[in-house]
Amino acid sequence: MMRLILLGAPGSGKGTQAVFLAERIGVPSISTGEMLRAAVAAGTELGNKVRAIMATGDLVDDDTMAEVVRERLGQSDAAGGFILDGYPRTLGQADTLAAILEGKDWSLDAVVHIEVPEEELIQRALARQRADDQEDVIRQRQRVYRQQTQPLIDHYEAQGLLCLIDGHQTIDDVAQSIASALGVSR
Ligand code: ADP
Repeated sequence: MMRLILLGAPGSGKGTQAVFLAERIGVPSISTGEMLRAAVAAGTELGNKVRAIMATGDLVDDDTMAEVVRERLGQSDAAGGFILDGYPRTLGQADTLAAILEGKDWSLDAVVHIEVPEEELIQRALARQRADDQEDVIRQRQRVYRQQTQPLIDHYEAQGLLCLIDGHQTIDDVAQSIASALGVSR
């Protein structure tokens, strides 16, 4: 049973790795980006609230995200562990998550940071075809990551939770590196 966070810049492959790892260790992979995109597609109240901000590459506000994550972690499948992909993304969100976990008497096992050089990230992102993947939006997401999410690396390192993975390898090799680092065998 593991409770994990996957950290990585846009294009680092963290979404792919979250799904692989979730399968391997038998816990749900919780992607806030996917949850929000689904809400936008379905035209829910949440979706309508976040559509415009997502389209710019900026972050949805911490209070809205707190509600989304609190609700998701309250679902029964999260009781056996989880992988968070895309949350937290700010120090404020990290504090909120800590409070949510504390309220449940849960703690994190590790924070996996998938590290990829910035130029490689831009190339990968440009090769991806998604409606919200225009170049200016991609650059904005990278900027937001650097300014708001990168500080989480030091934050979790200070807590002794950080696990650094070289993301500049094949998908399989990254998956293998993560598994080894976490001590989960194939
Ligand atoms: P990426 O394409 O970088 O993997 P995601 O799919 O995780 O991005 O998220 C897409 C968008 O959803 C983000 O650019 C942001 O607008 C919004 N979003 C997702 N997770 C969060 C979060 N934890 N806090 C704020 N906004 C978020």
